[in-house]
This record gives sequence, C-alpha cells and structure tokens, in this order.
Amino acid sequence: MHEVGLIQNAVAMALETVRSRGAGRVHAIRLRIGAMSGVVPEALQFAFDLACRGTPAEGAALEIEAVPAVCWCAACAAEFACDDFLGECPRCHAVSAELRRGTEMELAAVEVS
Ligand SMILES: [Zn+2]
Repeated sequence: MHEVGLIQNAVAMALETVRSRGAGRVHAIRLRIGAMSGVVPEALQFAFDLACRGTPAEGAALEIEAVPAVCWCAACAAEFACDDFLGECPRCHAVSAELRRGTEMELAAVEVS
C-alpha cells in the first residue's frame, strides 16, 4: 500500500502550500501517476479521503494525471510506447529495459485559495 504514503506526502505538501500562501482551503490536488508505478487509483481515492479528513483539504478534488509508459531504445536513439517493463522497440525489435517514463508518483499541482 504505497498509495497511503504517497497521499500523505501530497496532502502534507498541499497543506504547506495553504499555510505559505495564507490561503484557507485546498480545492484540488493533482497527482502524476505513471502506468508502471503500481499505484491503484481506487486505493488513492480512499487514502486521500482519509488523509484530508479534518484538514483544510477536506472535500478537495483528487485529480489523476496518467502518464503512459515510454521505453528508450539505445540502438535507434528513440523513445517508444510500451506497456511492460520489457518493451520491444517497434523499429529494430530490440528489447529495452530502460523505462523513461511511466513510474511517476508525484504531486503535479495544488489548487488553493
Ligand atoms: Zn530500436
């Protein structure tokens, strides 16, 4: 359940943003979640509701920005979309284990006022 830790960090950062800007509430939190991050969106929402309860972030919207997995082929010096940790390059069919994007688990934006 790394969703809980991820959400707790994101909510803590959002609340810090509220404090530093002298704002009153968190309206929305946007997370960037890679297809390969292993994060379960339903678990995120549940953890989010718990983490926000009783804070200025209570009732805030949780937005998920999905990042597709992209591998890197060194032979072609090109990126290509993949849906596995071992992606096959569509040009030269070499198997690449170098995932360039898709493992993100980060706070993308916070909306406060
Ligand atoms: Zn290639």
